[in-house]
Amino acid sequence: MDVFIRDVVKSKLGYNIIMKDEQVVAVKAILEGKDIFVVLPTGYGKSLCYMVLPFLFDAILSEKGSIIIIVTPLTAIIKDQVSACQEKGISCGYICGENDDKTMTAGVENCKYQLIYFTPEMLLLNKRWRKLLISAAYQTKIKGLALDEAHTIKKWGSTFRESLAKIGELRSLLPGKTPIMALTATADYTLRTELQYIIGMKSPLSVVLPPCKPNITYKIHEYISLQSNFMHIVEVGAPSLSKYKLVEMFTSCTDEAIKKQIIISFTKGDTLCIVCATIAFGMGVDCPNVWVVMHVGPSDDIESYIQETGRGGRDGLPCEAILLNKKSSLRYANNAMREYANNSSECRRHLLFRRLEGYDKEKHNVPKKYCCDFRFVCFV
Ligand SMILES: [Zn+2]
Repeated sequence: MDVFIRDVVKSKLGYNIIMKDEQVVAVKAILEGKDIFVVLPTGYGKSLCYMVLPFLFDAILSEKGSIIIIVTPLTAIIKDQVSACQEKGISCGYICGENDDKTMTAGVENCKYQLIYFTPEMLLLNKRWRKLLISAAYQTKIKGLALDEAHTIKKWGSTFRESLAKIGELRSLLPGKTPIMALTATADYTLRTELQYIIGMKSPLSVVLPPCKPNITYKIHEYISLQSNFMHIVEVGAPSLSKYKLVEMFTSCTDEAIKKQIIISFTKGDTLCIVCATIAFGMGVDCPNVWVVMHVGPSDDIESYIQETGRGGRDGLPCEAILLNKKSSLRYANNAMREYANNSSECRRHLLFRRLEGYDKEKHNVPKKYCCDFRFVCFV
């Protein structure tokens, strides 16, 4: 089976595409009808695990036109990945909201696409798309469900994304034995057990790699004020026209057109060098050229911090993860995150990763000069 998967993927996507072992494990589980958690570091190639499924099913089954449904919470991710799939020649569509292109929505209704991205709102709260899912055509063609950024199901589902809390309903809307792939960059055993229950996964398998990226250097600076911590990087005299700005703001209030422009400019490495954003920015968007990730205050927990800083250095070049230690925000963080922020005696990298499944101190160490700003206690 492994050789078959690798060969079909190469013949479809090009002979330079070499599937990693973990990707093959994930794909094989779905082809064999089993549920699986895919926990792989940011930039490792999680999305390839489901992008290849439609043509692999077509290669196995006598009936062609297999459909894979992907649910992911951020529209920016969907549009970015749909373009990436279309460039690879994969038949791909999306349903994000009321403003979707009419040709696209008609294509989805007529089973034109084999890989279809939905926001959870569209698939779970919108009658039109719920109905489509249970239509005869879709019930015969759907072969798998992928839930990307699965960690958000618990975190956001219990707060501001009501639709994510309803994700468990998908099991009853899909054909009986549809296998489910839940993907994320960080989910420990406890979170996976909780997600298994919320999603309704059946005895899922797991493929887990700890998110220890050797090119990220972890640092902590004291937070003084926005002005004093940032003045040296924003004193660049940005022109007033938005499209030439060196610094931009990206939040939930930012106009959609501006958001799009920011992502394009930042990803391409145009003039825009700095994006001040909420933590949702960059999630799942393939932005390779991020070389500094700076947090103003701690994340809620260690897993979130690793996930958020892991969006840097996707091109393999050195990247700095700097926590501006804002003491007044520490009360919102959990114990492990507080310990990380207050640490004054241990290697920061080790402190971050030591509890993670699959972490091996020897295997995941890096040269002292790249490890953290506590070089005198690092391992090598
Ligand atoms: Zn270190």
